[in-house]
Amino acid sequence: MNLITIDGPSASGKGTVSHLVAQHLGWDVLDSGALYRICAYAVLEYGLNADDEQAVAAVIPDLVIRFDVDRVYVNDQEVSEQLRLEHIGKLASKVAAYPAVRQALLDLQRSFLTNKGLVGDGRDMGTVIFPQAPLKIFLIADVNERAKRRYKQLVEKGIDADFEAILLDLQKRDEQDMNRAVAPLKPADDAIVIDSSYMGIQAVVDRILGHWEQ
Ligand code: C5P
Repeated sequence: MNLITIDGPSASGKGTVSHLVAQHLGWDVLDSGALYRICAYAVLEYGLNADDEQAVAAVIPDLVIRFDVDRVYVNDQEVSEQLRLEHIGKLASKVAAYPAVRQALLDLQRSFLTNKGLVGDGRDMGTVIFPQAPLKIFLIADVNERAKRRYKQLVEKGIDADFEAILLDLQKRDEQDMNRAVAPLKPADDAIVIDSSYMGIQAVVDRILGHWEQ
């Protein structure tokens, strides 16, 4: 089965690593975080009450979601840029704690697995969505290193960034993702943990490909 799961906390480099691994193998990528971000986007777009779990979950079947390389479309409208916004990430983390939302996204996520092969990028790819994956990676990095990376990315894009605020936000996001009752962020029992704090992206990719080829 052509399937690798890559889970880990925010800003651990999962997205970039997943795309490079998939590119090397000629597989697809499931950016599951984008699905939770789309839910957050829909809450705002449809003016839903974010505290109403059932209302948030109920909107999911109405969304026509399409990925085209790194572009994301919802109901034929491109939302790639909006999804990356900070307030969408925060709201995504909130709605991701709702069991009904996770349930509503279950089959959709599994439908991304085809014979072509898939790299599943997220928090619960190896534990909940694809427990059968032959290779599971849990990518971690020191929170200070992750904050530095995110700060650098923003500065490079010409966006004003506050290092302390980024650090605090990542700590809060980690805490929320690790302590929620449903699908908490944790490595699967059979996952290989890679600490990328002091590794370059390519070294992480090579390590994963090495495990795959074993
Ligand atoms: O990875 P990304 O930052 O895009 O994910 C946004 C939020 O969605 C995360 O903070 C996390 O709470 C949630 N998420 C999740 N399960 C996944 C992927 C993301 O709960 N598989």
